[in-house]
Amino acid sequence: MSSAMSASSDLSKTVRDKYMCLPQGDKVQVTYIWIDSTGEGLHCKTRTLDSEPKGIEDVPEWNFYGYSVYWPDGSNKDMYLMPVCLFRDPFTLDRNKLVLCEVLRHNREPTGTNLRSSCRQVMEQAGHSYPWFGMEQEYLLLGIDKHPFGWPKNGYPATEGLHWCGVGTNKVYGRDIAECHYKACLYAGVKIAGTNAEAMPSQWEFQVGPCEGIAMGDHLWMARFLLHRVCEDFGVVATLDPKPIAGNWYGAGCHTNFSTDAMRNKGGLQHIEEAIEKLSKRHSYHIRMYDPKGGADNSRRLTGTHKTSSIHEFSAGINNRNASIRISHQVGQDGCGYFEDRRPAANCDPYAVMEAITRTCVLNEME
Ligand code: ADP
Ligand code: MN
Ligand code: MN
Ligand code: MN
Ligand code: MN
Repeated sequence: MSSAMSASSDLSKTVRDKYMCLPQGDKVQVTYIWIDSTGEGLHCKTRTLDSEPKGIEDVPEWNFYGYSVYWPDGSNKDMYLMPVCLFRDPFTLDRNKLVLCEVLRHNREPTGTNLRSSCRQVMEQAGHSYPWFGMEQEYLLLGIDKHPFGWPKNGYPATEGLHWCGVGTNKVYGRDIAECHYKACLYAGVKIAGTNAEAMPSQWEFQVGPCEGIAMGDHLWMARFLLHRVCEDFGVVATLDPKPIAGNWYGAGCHTNFSTDAMRNKGGLQHIEEAIEKLSKRHSYHIRMYDPKGGADNSRRLTGTHKTSSIHEFSAGINNRNASIRISHQVGQDGCGYFEDRRPAANCDPYAVMEAITRTCVLNEME
């Protein structure tokens, strides 16, 4: 298979534009997007609706045949796609839509990788605390050959110089991806907060939030979909692997910032410290929830070097980037705000991370 020549990026975008600007009458294209059986991958398919859905309640349920995209739990029958969050489509433009879906089995139970379902219930139980989240998604760009994008074929880029927030051809690679993804998120209605170049060339980060409750996971998953889709147009691949290059290189995380109403207001630092105390007693539970393989992926990343903490111990500190939990300098000064959990891996399921933090810090669950 000659993957390079079949890449969407090799097709003429001028020809594409000729068709993309054709009028489509009242009809609306709606692309349904769902998380697959790995808990990491995304799938999508598109249908025509007769009129523009004004809200999620106007988007009908749909289904797919489970066997064709492999569900190991025997869900090889019709699966239901339950629309949960509606966005604008930045690729085929208004009034077309993207819709994030929960996946239900033929008996209408959530699949094993539908972690939104239980997260939503926990967010409802914790609603009185007004939980806010902000997540920092790191990723690395790869060529179609899986080699880091722009890195020399038989070696590594020169590591001298600061790549983090870098500017210049020899400092950062692939900025078009970060810029186009940012615009696509804004158009779609994803609550993207910012972006920056990361520590390795071709490594980038974007932030989503602050979002209240379940919206955090919905917006981060849609931002990931947009990232993979933008990458198609450029013929590169974005990997969320938490340690894409083994050895003395930076890993990729999904730092999760969290606050409740009490933490955000006067005297909030005390509430932040109480939450950290609760987190300190439940480190191994959190590690299990912070990557799709129960901690195995993160064990490659959380080494205690490269601005990470050790996977084996819990730590916290003001402005400490080698701790599990960091309180920013600003929050320390203001005496209120939020804290940052630096443990979640780049390929975490945000719903699992949010559920764990909320169970521990708001619902006071202990093992
Ligand atoms: P860092 O200094 O760790 O790189 P970033 O600026 O990359 O931090 O990301 C900070 C994140 O914190 C953003 O996603 C932002 O939306 C989020 N955030 C800001 N205020 C709050 C808050 N009160 N509660 C939760 N998240 C917040
Ligand atoms: Mn078919
Ligand atoms: Mn950041
Ligand atoms: Mn970062
Ligand atoms: Mn951070």
